[in-house]
Amino acid sequence: MIPSPVLPGAFERGRNLRRLADEHFDVLVVGGGITGVGVALDAASRGLRTALVERGDFASGTSSKSSKLVHGGLRYLQNGDVRLVYEALRERQRLLRNAPHLVRVMPFLIPMFGKGGVIHPKLEKALGSAMWMYDLTGGARIGKLHQRISKEETLAHMPTLPADRVGASYLYYDAQADDARLTLTVARTAAELHGAVCVNHAPVVELTHEGGRTTGAVVEDAESGSRIEVRASAVVNAAGVWADDIRALDEGTHPHAIRPAKGIHLTVPWSLVRNDIAVIAPVPKDKRSIFVVPWPAPAGEEPAFTYIGTTDTDYDGPTEDPQCTREDVAYLLDAINHSTTTEITERHVVGTWAGLRPLVKATTSGRTADLSRNHAVVPSASGVVSVTGGKLTTYREMAADTMDAVSEVLDLPRAQRRSRTARLRLLGADGYDPGATGPDQHLHQRYGGEARVVQAMAERDPSLGAPLVHGLPHLRAEALYAVRYEMATTLADVLERRVRGLMLSRDATADAATAVADLIGPELGWSDRRRADEVAELRARAVQQRDAPGLPDSVLPGIGS
Ligand code: FAD
Repeated sequence: MIPSPVLPGAFERGRNLRRLADEHFDVLVVGGGITGVGVALDAASRGLRTALVERGDFASGTSSKSSKLVHGGLRYLQNGDVRLVYEALRERQRLLRNAPHLVRVMPFLIPMFGKGGVIHPKLEKALGSAMWMYDLTGGARIGKLHQRISKEETLAHMPTLPADRVGASYLYYDAQADDARLTLTVARTAAELHGAVCVNHAPVVELTHEGGRTTGAVVEDAESGSRIEVRASAVVNAAGVWADDIRALDEGTHPHAIRPAKGIHLTVPWSLVRNDIAVIAPVPKDKRSIFVVPWPAPAGEEPAFTYIGTTDTDYDGPTEDPQCTREDVAYLLDAINHSTTTEITERHVVGTWAGLRPLVKATTSGRTADLSRNHAVVPSASGVVSVTGGKLTTYREMAADTMDAVSEVLDLPRAQRRSRTARLRLLGADGYDPGATGPDQHLHQRYGGEARVVQAMAERDPSLGAPLVHGLPHLRAEALYAVRYEMATTLADVLERRVRGLMLSRDATADAATAVADLIGPELGWSDRRRADEVAELRARAVQQRDAPGLPDSVLPGIGS
């Protein structure tokens, strides 16, 4: 095997399961979304013996289903949440520095509409003030101030805008990242650079107590069905929308403190929108707007996809696998069609995803869109610390606050009471080549310095240099890398999260399922039966996503068969 990771074996599932059973930990983190992996990194980098268990795959909850923006959130300023925006913009800068391979500056366009392209002065003034406010709150830290640009420049950025209604626009800067990859990289950094023991597909089924204090948890290995008792002095509950369920295991009663809010996105071919930068489009008859974001392409190439989102609605359905409904899709299509001259229909949708925001309940019952994205850290009487709410962008700060609370619970010495993550670079940041071009650029923007391992795999076996999924830039070597070094355990781990296949190109990904299973199956020791089950499951997910929007005729023959 090509020698890779920084600390060989540190992110190996079987080895880590054994360590879970054998060792005693200072902190056990429940949940491998961005919040949980952030806490694991904060804890491990303070020198604490740290374990993390995730019920499904890393980022399989909300953290793979966001809008993928590392941003302050212009609209939170409108809600008066200046502190949240300030903190988020500070975190955005840290992420740009600590994970330059994963987080990219992205310009955003806010086109202004008016009859014949004439903008109402009130609208222009209000937006202009909001732009200054964003810059002053920390937006300008990115090194560029917002600008007002002409109608011609606006149309050059998105030629499908209706020329008879659009006028000038504002342009400002934020950042974007693949949320699942960021989450995985934080987990690997915690494990390979700081010694945390992380395991996916390992749900907590019980919390253990002695004398009213937490002593750890019972965890199930979803692969073998066996149970492991993990001993820990403190437990962090970072289970997102499922945090109340973990609290119920600890406190005996369900606190009902989380109010899930559903948000969906859809992907369409970029050629229908042709936006070279992200665009904020208004939703007619609703005081909201949506993001229209090109999926990054190698320098000099046109993007293949644009994704559009999000909705923001109260949700009381099953939290396991929220679905996009026809209404959700219609809402986004109505909004985008209001801002384009092309008619985008359900038939053009090539991918969809739905996620649940783990919002903390407010005392009043307004729209979920108006609920704060601030986070809350709540220690229980037994010493379980729950962290809820927040945003992808602010995960590091949430983790630091959580570990500050844990350090009180554990009565840690002074040296371990301070977070060390503000300047801690993530795995791959060292050795990242921002000047890489062509296929190397694709690899560097996913793996940073670790790209060399994927490149070496493809050089050693040229068949691994072939494409993984038709129309996507990934190599077959990336699927093997995912299994060998990124703890991918199922076909969906590879095609839904390590590679964002289902999200970007559902049908082509389902088409590739058998070939990818044949490639990774031997590495994972799959029987023929397991391999067939994995393919069937992946294809069923593609069918479910295709049918939820109610697309009339699939362009994918044989899918789900
Ligand atoms: P999750 O990612 O859901 O992680 C919780 C994990 O706990 C899950 O993986 C789950 O499997 C695991 N778990 C549950 N029960 C157990 C158990 N018993 N044992 C072990 N593990 C368990 N934020 C931004 O900053 N920018 C954005 O652009 C943005 N867009 C968004 C768009 C949408 C539609 C949504 C829904 C959210 C968006 N957010 C955004 C917010 C952001 O995505 C979330 O705040 C963040 O991903 C939540 O992460 P988490 O780790 O708390 O939860």
